[in-house]
Amino acid sequence: MDLQFKAADGSKRYKITKIYVPEGGSFQAGAPLLKAESGKMNTVVKAEQAGTLKKLLVKEGQEIGSGEIFAQAEYAAGTSAAGGQRGTVGSSSAASQRDAAKAAPNPALSLFGKKEELSCEIAVVGAGPGGYEAAIYAAKQGKDVILIEKSKVGGTCLNVGCIPTKAIVNSAEKYHMLCGLEDIGVSCGQASFDMHRVIGHKNQVVEQLRGGIESLLEANGVRLVRGTAAFQGPKELLVSQGLNRTTVKAGHVIIAAGSRIADLPIPGIHGSNVLNSTTALDLEEDFDSIAIVGGGVIGMEFAGIYASLGKRVHVLEYEKQILPTTDPDLVEVLTEDLKGQVDIRTGVRVQEIRESENGQCIVAFESGGRTKYLVADKVLVAVGRSANLDGLKLEKAGVELTENKRSIAVGGSMETNVPGIYAIGDVTGKIQLAHAASHQGLVAVDCILGKDRSMEYDFIPSVIFSRVEIATVGRTERELKQAGIAYRVSRFPFAANGKALTMDEGRGFVKLIAREEDGKLVGAAVAGPDASNLISVLTLALTNGLSPEAIISTVFPHPTLGEVIHEAALGLTVGAIHYHE
Ligand SMILES: Cc1cc2nc3c(=O)[nH]c(=O)nc-3n(C[C@H](O)[C@H](O)[C@H](O)COP(=O)(O)OP(=O)(O)OC[C@H]3O[C@@H](n4cnc5c(N)ncnc54)[C@H](O)[C@@H]3O)c2cc1C
Repeated sequence: MDLQFKAADGSKRYKITKIYVPEGGSFQAGAPLLKAESGKMNTVVKAEQAGTLKKLLVKEGQEIGSGEIFAQAEYAAGTSAAGGQRGTVGSSSAASQRDAAKAAPNPALSLFGKKEELSCEIAVVGAGPGGYEAAIYAAKQGKDVILIEKSKVGGTCLNVGCIPTKAIVNSAEKYHMLCGLEDIGVSCGQASFDMHRVIGHKNQVVEQLRGGIESLLEANGVRLVRGTAAFQGPKELLVSQGLNRTTVKAGHVIIAAGSRIADLPIPGIHGSNVLNSTTALDLEEDFDSIAIVGGGVIGMEFAGIYASLGKRVHVLEYEKQILPTTDPDLVEVLTEDLKGQVDIRTGVRVQEIRESENGQCIVAFESGGRTKYLVADKVLVAVGRSANLDGLKLEKAGVELTENKRSIAVGGSMETNVPGIYAIGDVTGKIQLAHAASHQGLVAVDCILGKDRSMEYDFIPSVIFSRVEIATVGRTERELKQAGIAYRVSRFPFAANGKALTMDEGRGFVKLIAREEDGKLVGAAVAGPDASNLISVLTLALTNGLSPEAIISTVFPHPTLGEVIHEAALGLTVGAIHYHE
């Protein structure tokens, strides 16, 4: 039996980086046989069936192209290769088995571009965290999946959202920390900051992760089709890229088209010194001051970055409080930390952005019925994202929107009004978070597979990565008050936690919220060191209905930040041990 190397991108040469089975060695079905790389693309060739490798025709370090034979093998008795004499080994066994069932692509080159017709069981539109995770999850369960992406794999989250911001947050935080190390007896001379290298590091992280996702798609047999998808009918999409046209016919469609920066009607918003959350990620130019329009999650993350870099920062927020949906006690930890470095103005409405003669920005805003002005070198507009609905031609599939017409309407299974068409992530307008999009994707796939699942929104954690991290899960005090639900709160401060003090991180607290009626934990929050990690423990507890007593009976290691959770749970019962109010 000839074993053939098969890669998703047949035009490339691959370098063999690993041969897993020696000549004469045996292998199980699904075992890796050979790994090859091309640029950032990795392909792992897996065995379709159990057998023995009779003859190796290649060596590590050698180049190989799609279709070339790399070994001869004998399959174990009782198994036979699908398709007769030649065993086609793709990047996964499931992928190659499905190949036979797929409608063969029919590329027809003409002056008007390439035309192709493809079919699959599930077509996913958009390769952000919602779409690409759904695609891999479905492929792992034997589904034949096509993933369509018009831009870069990874979507907003990887390319211009979660990951790049966190890379820059990390550089800024480290710089800020270096500037304050003398307090704990460490001196390292004059700290400096090189924005060119910071952006370079951010780009390298993003590219590495993007390459990783592309390899995973290939290894799981997900076919990636590049281009913009538009519905032609309920189960048919036309994908356009330049002059090329691919028709994709699918049994099910998952729309994961995400969101984009909303165009706000503020005069001057497109000025040369006005940034948005995407352009700010590539800003290498130095400046002294910045006005941030919008004190929401994205605005406050950037405020933290620029404050750590020693810039003069102004935040202009329309609501009465920055981070309007977060409980005020948590927000206070952040505002205390930023005091003296960030000028926060709430209850104001930005009217216009003008450019002064020396190139600075003049921001006109209304505050208390009067127009005021603020001058800064740069303005960052960090307000509003809208669902990517344009160009999808949803009407051709009959997919309905929500009442406000801003998002795609879905039920708990993530199915739209059209049977077989699902929507997940930012495009549904439910919750604009990457992990929510991914989870919705898994629910949609499970429902396609016939499992009885429904998306639950009660315990989706949310993190603000500003100079102090704030993380929340479940209900806030504000919500409970508004709903007239009686509750009890326990707060435990990091100032009473040994590990936090050794880290010189005594700011903030953990808070647990229990319903008065039955003592059930309904909400939790952390403002302070490593809140983004601590919230996972609390999310696990709340999602699984753990009681404060269950947390108390759990042993937490010492000395760790996690002990604050144990103490806060004690605070809901007999009282915390290391803190007395
Ligand atoms: C600055 C910033 C920071 C953020 N930080 C965080 C954070 O720390 N944590 C967090 O959880 N969330 C964060 N988010 C939000 C997070 O990025 C989004 O919630 C998440 O990316 C949504 O995932 P998605 O899969 O729904 O859509 P997206 O990530 O937007 O991906 C959608 C993809 O679909 C493609 N597409 C759209 N239309 C078509 C079409 N017709 N045909 C083909 N392809 C199409 C797009 O090109 C895109 O790649 C941040 C966002 C921003 C802007």
